[in-house]
Amino acid sequence: MRRTSALFCAAMMLTSLTAGVVVTSPDGRLVAEVSVDDGVPHYQVMYDGQTAIAESSLGVVTNVGDYTRSMAISDEGEEKQITSVDNQEKIKQHSIHTDARERVITFTQDDKPVMALQLRVSNKDVAFRYMLMPHRGANSCVVTSENTAYRVADNALTFMAPQSKPMTGFARTAPSYETKYSLGEPVGRNGWGFGYTFPCLFEVPNADADKALWIMLSETGTDGGYVGCRLLGGNGGEYRIGFPQEGELNGWGSTSVQMPLPGYTPWRTITIGHTPANIVESTVTWELVEPKYKASRNYADDYGKGMWSWIIGMDSSCNYDEQKRYIDFAAAMGYRSLLVDALWDVQIGRERIAELAKYGKERGVGLYLWYNSNGSWNDAPQSPKHIMNNGTRRKQEMKWMQEIGILGIKVDFFGGDKQPVMQLYEDILSDANDCGLMVIFHGCTLPRGWERMYPNFVASEAVLASENLHFSQGFCDTEARDCGAMYPFTRNTVASMDFGGSALNKYYNANNNRGSRRVTTDVYALATAVLFQSPVQHFALAPNNLTDAPAWAIDFMKAVPTTWDEIRYIDGYPGKYIIMARRSGDKWYIAGVNAMEQPLKQNISLPMFDAKSQVTLYQNGEVKEVKVSRKQTVSIEIPTNGGVVIVQ
Ligand code: CA
Repeated sequence: MRRTSALFCAAMMLTSLTAGVVVTSPDGRLVAEVSVDDGVPHYQVMYDGQTAIAESSLGVVTNVGDYTRSMAISDEGEEKQITSVDNQEKIKQHSIHTDARERVITFTQDDKPVMALQLRVSNKDVAFRYMLMPHRGANSCVVTSENTAYRVADNALTFMAPQSKPMTGFARTAPSYETKYSLGEPVGRNGWGFGYTFPCLFEVPNADADKALWIMLSETGTDGGYVGCRLLGGNGGEYRIGFPQEGELNGWGSTSVQMPLPGYTPWRTITIGHTPANIVESTVTWELVEPKYKASRNYADDYGKGMWSWIIGMDSSCNYDEQKRYIDFAAAMGYRSLLVDALWDVQIGRERIAELAKYGKERGVGLYLWYNSNGSWNDAPQSPKHIMNNGTRRKQEMKWMQEIGILGIKVDFFGGDKQPVMQLYEDILSDANDCGLMVIFHGCTLPRGWERMYPNFVASEAVLASENLHFSQGFCDTEARDCGAMYPFTRNTVASMDFGGSALNKYYNANNNRGSRRVTTDVYALATAVLFQSPVQHFALAPNNLTDAPAWAIDFMKAVPTTWDEIRYIDGYPGKYIIMARRSGDKWYIAGVNAMEQPLKQNISLPMFDAKSQVTLYQNGEVKEVKVSRKQTVSIEIPTNGGVVIVQ
């Protein structure tokens, strides 16, 4: 499994370092160095003396100037200590603690300052963004490309989701960040020819496990002022930032960025550790962004669990009687919401939706309403459509939703990552806040810091999610490998994830007797309710589960929190298994799943529990009380496609 990277390390040590500008993490282990060679800005990143990102290019090309060559560093900037604490109830950890060092390095071209690099290094993360300055009398520019590259070791293995070709897939709705992660593929490929979606995870194996490196690349702070970027490969260990593809938005709209000067790009983030722990626990995505407006109400009051009928019953379940039955089911479970999916406008109608909203309200169950984001960018036929893409109609619709007491919206089928689409996300979020509505996106881009930037943003899909379990037996068969043991290392580390899972039906069918068959265990369903993080969880439970699922499973699903105070990575390997811990209040939940062909037996160290204290163990289809050992360990066994949960 672990291949040596000694050759790579030796090669890197021979590379002479030009005198550069250095920023070192507070603990001294992570170092970023920026330099200029032959006029080309570069950087490299070292961790514990090892090269993590070898010399890689920086810079931006605009229609005002090419800031990738003929550059010089004119000002190294003063090193500043950045310390702050902010609370965020929507993400993996309640407290976002920033402890980093930063420099703003100024670059000149022909002796004129044209670009600055804001470079920040914490104990886990390197982050940087470009500031472009007014130049040649221009107070605005078009950014046509970035020269930002990342050179990882040639023996690195990748866990990355390919970007799709535009206008492909269901109703020509791709790209929508719904592709499978690679399972330790070598570097040098370029996905399906179009690069990869963020986040991108690399393992640099080492015979000495203490020297292995795990590297996560992502970006944050993207709003309507930029495009969503991707990572381009195809050149050995070198990867580069790519802009959207021409074909997105049905070929309409530029792939470039319109920007005022001075203007900032989003942040590029690199998270590094010797195990995936730093990546799973990092909060860098949210450390670098600020709220863009004030919350119109306290949304946290309405976070929590919910139901949706569509995942089991599909479109035909979106009728008045079935939604009413699901409201009763949600109330019986003590859940806060019901997501009414596509076609409610024709199959239920607005008047009766108002009745359902009232019926739900009397039972403590609020409604989320589904919308098609279109528009004119793809063929997704489901209605309601032509509302969310138009400011006039959107505002009227949201006012109506506010009047009848709707909790939030789920908007689906976006048109890619070009700047007009990023602006649409921001407009929907901001208008929804005016009416106190929370927002979930599906068929969409990766949210990049949005939990903090937009107070009413809840979560996005941007992952191959539970709907595929309904659509395909093949997807069910590899669910543990491609979802449970993968997303906690990748997609879910940088943003809340609306997966819509934790089914207790044996079959994805209303009668629970045919259709695609779930091969994961009931404890797996419980474990992913903890592993997959979103402040609002719409679970794939069905009313029949009240009688046909084990009582311990239903009781667990009634009690499991959706907001968390703390996260702790314990052990795992992407696509094989994961064990991690989340704390909510004073309760710890330890959850694990196993995708390997053999059962996973481990004695795990749980220092959060007192020696000899009692914990509740969900394992092998039963629940029991067990004692923590004197050395604060608990022995667990996770079957293939199974899970484990420990609660105290
Ligand atoms: Ca989808």
